[in-house]
Amino acid sequence: MSETIFHKIIKHEIPADIVFEDEHLIAFRDIAPQAPVHVLFVPKTDVATLNDLQPDQSAIVGRLAVAAADYAKREGFAEDGYRIVMNCNGHGGQTVFQIHLHLLAGAPLGRFGT
Ligand code: 5GP
Repeated sequence: MSETIFHKIIKHEIPADIVFEDEHLIAFRDIAPQAPVHVLFVPKTDVATLNDLQPDQSAIVGRLAVAAADYAKREGFAEDGYRIVMNCNGHGGQTVFQIHLHLLAGAPLGRFGT
């Protein structure tokens, strides 16, 4: 599996604005935010795309979702609401091939589309 920029962030080899970290995952602000709040939740286990996630690895994505919701509650915008997104491959717009969950919040968000 090829190393991505997110692997370097996980290893603290390059800087990132980290907002949460535990033994399973790391969360940091997106370098090109698409909303007032845009945080990426990245597992420390190597999984390139959602297509590569094995059935016995489902807890990896569950932990990302729980960490995102916990962050929203801690930061006080959980009740206002937020969006979580995972992009997969070309048509999904994935550019970094280590799975990650986008948390977008801080303003009413547009509907999905192209
Ligand atoms: P994807 O398009 O793969 O779903 O999302 C990748 C995200 O990573 C993009 O929103 C992009 O702005 C963000 N990103 C790419 N490189 C870096 C980086 O070096 N640092 C941070 N914090 N975010 C990055």
